[in-house]
Amino acid sequence: MHVITAIQQSKKPIISLEITPPDKGRSIEELYATLDVLVPFEPAFINVTYHQPQVVYEEKDGIIYRIPKRKKPGTVGICAAIANRYHIEPVPHFICGGFSKYETEDALIDLHYLGITNIFAVRGDPPPGQKTFIPNQDGHRYASELVRQIANMNEGIYLEELEDAQPTNFCIGVAGYPEKHYEAPNFEKDLYHLKHKVDQGAHYIITQMFFDFDVFKNFVEKARSIGITVPILPGIKPLTRISQLSSIPRDFHVSIPYHIVEAMEEARTREAARQVGIRKTIELCEQLIEYGVPGLHIYTMGRGQATCEVLKGLFG
Ligand code: FAD
Repeated sequence: MHVITAIQQSKKPIISLEITPPDKGRSIEELYATLDVLVPFEPAFINVTYHQPQVVYEEKDGIIYRIPKRKKPGTVGICAAIANRYHIEPVPHFICGGFSKYETEDALIDLHYLGITNIFAVRGDPPPGQKTFIPNQDGHRYASELVRQIANMNEGIYLEELEDAQPTNFCIGVAGYPEKHYEAPNFEKDLYHLKHKVDQGAHYIITQMFFDFDVFKNFVEKARSIGITVPILPGIKPLTRISQLSSIPRDFHVSIPYHIVEAMEEARTREAARQVGIRKTIELCEQLIEYGVPGLHIYTMGRGQATCEVLKGLFG
């Protein structure tokens, strides 16, 4: 089922999960262990992130070899495994970085043949060791261009003219930033680019994580005021560790409100800090549900237990 259909048909806020593939060499059983505890909460779909390889150069016998080292391969394989094992809709993330638009087209055809009908389209972060995003030669610079390519294929428009070309049937999600994307000069400009992404054919938005209800509310109101009408799913990251109070703002360019930082820092033990983080996450979700969000999208980051505690706190 398309994500947009699941959202439209559900009478209550849907739950969706986001996972990252295991590090290369790890077992998929670890991922199953994470998902096994969460599947009883009936997630409508599960997103699987995609990671660009870090390119390193190694010299052997006087020859320089270019080696793309991908730490977390397997996005499409994991999607197939999820569909097989849990019969839950998988949503592979698809990025601009590292692909020409021709390679993108072929990869989209693969997904289409596999029966995957949902895609989350993002530009991608620069790979480790690189500061700025550099598009591939013949690749897309912005997610909106990737969205356009997918939407074109949904209309049977491929890169080359094909006779009687069959359309694909992808439902497309895109990323939104309640605190603005870190490269955008200001919030309004970023929102304008988000609207462009939606206008190119995106069906719904999932937000970057945020920790303050008012930040999300302001984002939704501003988005609606400029004519973004698609569903906006809030991205939720359960807080569990004091160290996240600095790592999350650093890695994701988001802020954590004073009352959360203070409460977690005042906790006497690690377990007490974890309990505060979970409680604050539950409170945020309760505010969002009260506000009428179409769903909650939870970033599990391989930690099913924290997500499980949040969902138990919300739904018993
Ligand atoms: P875009 O929408 O292309 O925007 C990037 C920047 O360019 C923004 O500052 C925007 O304002 C600006 N911009 C957009 N269009 C234009 C234009 N026409 N002219 C000038 N400026 C413009 N990264 C991964 O590598 N793999 C993943 O699986 C992944 N999953 C994610 C899931 C979610 C829910 C979120 C929120 C992020 C995810 N990311 C992932 C991170 C994402 O790739 C980065 O945040 C990236 O830096 C931006 O991606 P985007 O799709 O929002 O880019």
